[in-house]
Parts: sequence; C-alpha cells; structure tokens
Amino acid sequence: MKLAVASGKGGTGKTMVAANLAFTLSRTEPVTLVDCDVEEPDLNLFFSGSATTTDVTVPVPVIDDASCDRCGKCGEFCQYGALTVLRDRVLFFPELCHSCGGCTLVCPKRAIHEEPKRIGTLSVSAPLPGLNLISGLLDTGSSRTVPIIRAIKERANNDPLVICDSAPGTSCPVVETLDGCDACILVTESTPFGLHDLRLAVDVTARLGVPAGIVINRSDGKDEATVRFCIDHDLEILMTIPFSREIAAIQSRGDLLCQVRPEWQKDFSALAAKCKSLAGVEE
Ligand code: SF4
Ligand code: SF4
Repeated sequence: MKLAVASGKGGTGKTMVAANLAFTLSRTEPVTLVDCDVEEPDLNLFFSGSATTTDVTVPVPVIDDASCDRCGKCGEFCQYGALTVLRDRVLFFPELCHSCGGCTLVCPKRAIHEEPKRIGTLSVSAPLPGLNLISGLLDTGSSRTVPIIRAIKERANNDPLVICDSAPGTSCPVVETLDGCDACILVTESTPFGLHDLRLAVDVTARLGVPAGIVINRSDGKDEATVRFCIDHDLEILMTIPFSREIAAIQSRGDLLCQVRPEWQKDFSALAAKCKSLAGVEE
C-alpha cells in the first residue's frame, strides 16, 4: 500500500501525523517513509541517523556550436522557452528546461546531445528497526521539485508499505506525490483558512481518483463546519487530535508523540487500519 499524507495548507501537523503513523506501524511491519517535501524536508528532525546520499540529476541539452547552423527548429519546438536561437548562437536557459528531450530529436544537424545536471539529492537511512526513511532535497537555485519526488518515490517502489509525506498545498509537487497512491490522509485544522484549503485539497484528490480521509488536528472541540463539510462530501473523519500544549511541546522538541506517550499508539494503529480500509487493502 502506498499512502500519502497531505494538507491544503502548511502548519496543520501533517508531518507529525506521518511520523507517528510510520513509527507505530514499523513496530509490527516494515515501513518506508518518504519525505516528498523536497524544498523543506523535516522528517529527519524526528528520525535521526546516518544516511547514504546520492545526487539526483536530470538530462539537459548541450549544443555543439560547430555543428549547429542556427536553423531555429529547436527554439520553435521548445514550448517552455528554454531555447532562443540567435543569428550567431543558441541560448539555453536551464531553469526553464523540463528535460523533455524533444530538441535533441528535432535537430536536423544532430548538434544537440544531453548531459546530466544535478538538481538535488536523495538520502536513505534506517533510523529504527523496521523503518526506512527516504528524503529528497532540492538544491538552492533549482526549481525542479517534481523529478526529485519522482526519484525518491521510485526508490520505494517495491516496498510493501510506503507513507509519502507531501509538501503542503495543491501544486505540482503535491500532485506528483499523490500520483499512484492508494489512499490519502488530509490533515486539517478547524479554522476558516483550514476549511478553505481542505476544500482545495479534497478537489485535487478527487480529480486524481485517490480515496481521501480526514484527520482534524489541534481540535478545540468546535469542529462543526469541518464535520459538516466531511458529511456533505462523504469523507470519513479518520482521527481527531485535540489541541494540547503537551503535544505541542513534544512536537517542538522533535520527539515523537507515540514514543513519549505510548498510549497514542492505539489511536495511530486505528488510523492505519482505517487507511488500509480506505485503500481497499485487506488486513
Ligand atoms: S535545431 Fe540544431 S541546428 Fe537548428 S538551431 Fe537548434 S541546435 Fe542548431
Ligand atoms: S529538453 Fe525539452 S524543455 Fe529542455 S530545452 Fe529541449 S525542448 Fe526545451
């Protein structure tokens, strides 16, 4: 099963849910936790340990000026504006390139070949028995989040139980994280902003055909609007975590709630069972 943990907005406690869920599950079965928030990975704050790190690269075109006759075909082809053909040279803007490989194919002079360009890193560690952590980190100055998310998810492809902690929001990195997942936990908080962004996130999961359930975090007991929204949209509330200074303090120390307060493992085990049911996985 591949499970995503996402949220329409940042700061809802999504990573806390993913970390505690993975920790609890890893006590009974092997779990791979994938940190797909490659611009700001933070699961390593909960799970320290030495990691093996490798580069993530994408192919980018390199133009051989001696073979190029400035025919303009590559510039016409590139829909991303990454190539501009001038009278005496071809300008390449790597930050706009999506590595589609098309310019290499359309060049009649075979003046373009591809070379790898580093955009970030992939790290693998085993912080606990039964738990593997795979993280991606985007290089400063790069904007190519999607290929890094694809690379870290591919690394976990053959693992039986994968939990992908998504970036917040509803943009391309979230869509890439959700792609191929069997179910998604959407973590929200019962505020007007929380509900607004939950609507957007629910819309994305529905369009991608990923079954979603809701975790209400930091509940102050006034969850009526969120509950009404879930009933109206046939969304199961998988878990409600109360607002608690103690939980906030545990979290701020980088500790795991389920480790400091083992009684919470029962709640996260129940959450895992509901997620498996949502994904159609038999226990
Ligand atoms: S298509 Fe090839 S030959 Fe034409 S301008 Fe581009 S690199 Fe040069
Ligand atoms: S690889 Fe694709 S996106 Fe990149 S420059 Fe060539 S045509 Fe444009």
